[in-house]
Amino acid sequence: MNTMLLGAWKTALRFCGTVFNEVGFYLVRKLLWRFRRPRYFILLGPPGSGKGTLARQLAPALQVPPMSTGDVFRREKAANTNFGKQVTAHLADGTLVPDSLTLAIVRRELISPRFWFGAMEDGFPRTIEQAIAFDLLLARWGASVERVVLLDVDDDALVDRLSNRRTCTNKACGRTYNLKYERSVEAGICDACGAATAQRDDDVPEVISARLRTYRVETKPLCNYYQDRKVLASFKPTGDMTAQEVFVLVKTALQG
Ligand code: ADP
Ligand code: ZN
Repeated sequence: MNTMLLGAWKTALRFCGTVFNEVGFYLVRKLLWRFRRPRYFILLGPPGSGKGTLARQLAPALQVPPMSTGDVFRREKAANTNFGKQVTAHLADGTLVPDSLTLAIVRRELISPRFWFGAMEDGFPRTIEQAIAFDLLLARWGASVERVVLLDVDDDALVDRLSNRRTCTNKACGRTYNLKYERSVEAGICDACGAATAQRDDDVPEVISARLRTYRVETKPLCNYYQDRKVLASFKPTGDMTAQEVFVLVKTALQG
């Protein structure tokens, strides 16, 4: 009985949250966007190219919060929500979450207050279908994708980076480290927030190669899509460039 009540409460709360977001976002769009244009950016690049780090660094500079679909999916999975149950298998084997599900989650995130004035997308869109649907969604709102940054990192560097990657387990922080190139001061502890760092479940060899394959087949074609729309800015970070150097380069280009 108690769990049923709790479930009903949760559903009711979620419903109120959704209504608040829908109404709030509608008002912001109609009343405030003319004073402050929303800005939507996309970071494209293979797994391990440094999109997450870059998104977190660029966010304050461009005043748009980062949104990582991977993080959102992992959060849903951890909370064991309906969405979470449907994405678990895809997270485990490195295949893509179906477009319809991804789009529904992205829309839900975009109308929440944090993203009312735009977003720095990290890991979305990942298929042509997602890109087209995203363009349509933004067009319906009277907005558009401002710039797409491609981090064109060579394949051989990626496996090495991903298998040595350690990620802060504090979801609100999510900083990444590398056992070879960028260690935390104290082993296993995040410099930024003090939480433990750990290897992500999908940063293991078999899943890494599946993710790289998925990227090559599904996501790489997006470069042409955005090139045709004249919003693509391509960067080829070399192995000896630090994350900070890449950040300065991209930021300068974006603020152009
Ligand atoms: P990475 O880019 O390093 O592979 P992410 O955290 O971005 O890691 O994504 C982890 C997983 O989440 C992907 O392997 C995929 O299963 C799923 N995922 C993330 N974003 C999308 C998306 N836009 N469409 C479909 N699946 C996605
Ligand atoms: Zn941390």
